[in-house]
Amino acid sequence: VVEALRRRLGEEAVLVGPAVERVYECDAYTVEKRPPLCVALPSTTEEVRDVVVLCREHGVPFAARGAGTGLSGGATVAGVVISTRRMNRILEIDAENRFARVQPGVTNLQVSKAAEPHGLFFAPDPSSQHVSTIGGNIAENAGGPHTLKYGVTANHVLEVQVVLPRGEVVRFGSRVPGAPGIDPCALIVGSEGTLGVVTEAVLRLTPKAEWVRTALAFFQTPREAVRAVALMIAEGVVPLALEFMDATFMKVVSDSFGLEFPAAAGAFLLMEFDGTESSTEAELDAATEVCRRCGAIELQVAKDDAERARLWYARKNAVGGLGRIAPSKVTHDGSIPRSKLPDMLERISEIAQRHGVVVANLAHAGDGNLHPCMPFDDRDPDQTARMHRAADEIMRLCVEFGGSITGEHGVGLEKLPFMRLMFSEEDLEFQRRLAAALGADPLCNPGKLVPEVGA
Ligand SMILES: Cc1cc2nc3c(=O)[nH]c(=O)nc-3n(C[C@H](O)[C@H](O)[C@H](O)COP(=O)(O)OP(=O)(O)OC[C@H]3O[C@@H](n4cnc5c(N)ncnc54)[C@H](O)[C@@H]3O)c2cc1C
Repeated sequence: VVEALRRRLGEEAVLVGPAVERVYECDAYTVEKRPPLCVALPSTTEEVRDVVVLCREHGVPFAARGAGTGLSGGATVAGVVISTRRMNRILEIDAENRFARVQPGVTNLQVSKAAEPHGLFFAPDPSSQHVSTIGGNIAENAGGPHTLKYGVTANHVLEVQVVLPRGEVVRFGSRVPGAPGIDPCALIVGSEGTLGVVTEAVLRLTPKAEWVRTALAFFQTPREAVRAVALMIAEGVVPLALEFMDATFMKVVSDSFGLEFPAAAGAFLLMEFDGTESSTEAELDAATEVCRRCGAIELQVAKDDAERARLWYARKNAVGGLGRIAPSKVTHDGSIPRSKLPDMLERISEIAQRHGVVVANLAHAGDGNLHPCMPFDDRDPDQTARMHRAADEIMRLCVEFGGSITGEHGVGLEKLPFMRLMFSEEDLEFQRRLAAALGADPLCNPGKLVPEVGA
């Protein structure tokens, strides 16, 4: 297959060898590693189609890969990696109709930068947005801090062009609302690359608000902070972003980046509001009043863009700082109803202590989307086993609390064993049948998303 791919794409566009195997053996979920056979670098939809057809002819598994920042092993494949690195052009910005037409390897932030001169932006903003790609965002239905107000990727994808697992090139979706019939575009979003390779997308662009305010509220305990989250939203204040960080993470970011926090703080909430000047200021006032009622000990409100960037710095860079604690980490993303966050955080702390592992918590708290991050040393089998046992209990708790095993990172390889916590065999069989009807194939990103019968 390598020879056949080289004949079609050229020598330079097919990578092999030990360095390639190490770089592409996993994504940002480093627990499971599968060195690929090779990495193909197509530049056009036609080349993607031919790569897919050649893989099929040779019976070799394949999977699309964007930036490899996925946190669930979605792009990990012991076969041909179809990298979208060379498909990185913005093809069109239509400011009048507010959409962008892009290739899949464009990064999320590139889209917003290209739209900025028109007063527009691409609303879904995963924290990986400076590197993660539109293809990866679509496949994982990525969320982010600002999706509390504006919705996840699924709400912002108007059209997709896809090379299906048997090589057909199809286009789904519509740039205008109300297109008739079943909506396959909606099924492609979140299908984790199991239904084919997205080679082009038309994305909704959103007007930038005239006024933005950002504030940090510090609390003595995590319970007080997340209590404020549920109350705020119940009282009708829906911020643009409502992010939570616990004391373990605050220590990590202060050790890593020299940031200082109030000595008594055991958690903070980062709140952002946008709209007109008067609506934004009114929301900020209402939210700070809720924080005070819940026991906030200090409030910092940004006065300008530089201060806003400073307040965001800790949140945006937190996960990288975990490298100071251990060489590996797993970032979970279970979602639960907001009102259960206080109890959930206490139960997580108890689980961590019982298994002797570190769990540092972040959360897109407004969405109830928790990120318990577990740094560990993957060279130590005992530590690794304890990390897995603690993670298993946390997943079960999410479901027990009426939530989901994944809020935004996808199932991939990582969450596959937990799918049966949420779905019955009948539910799973329906998903398998639906995927098969859409052309899913055992060679296209195998062993992901929906567990096989009996697996
Ligand atoms: C520090 C950090 C912060 C993060 N923050 C967030 C966050 O706030 N919100 C969030 O949702 N996620 C977050 N993530 C996870 C990750 O960045 C997202 O899942 C992102 O969407 C993955 O994009 P990617 O280009 O890296 O995709 P990859 O990791 O390369 O692939 C992910 C999946 O997409 C599939 N895929 C990629 N390209 C295509 C294509 N063209 N067609 C079909 N399938 C394709 C792959 O097969 C795989 O299943 C974070 C990750 C890191 C490391």
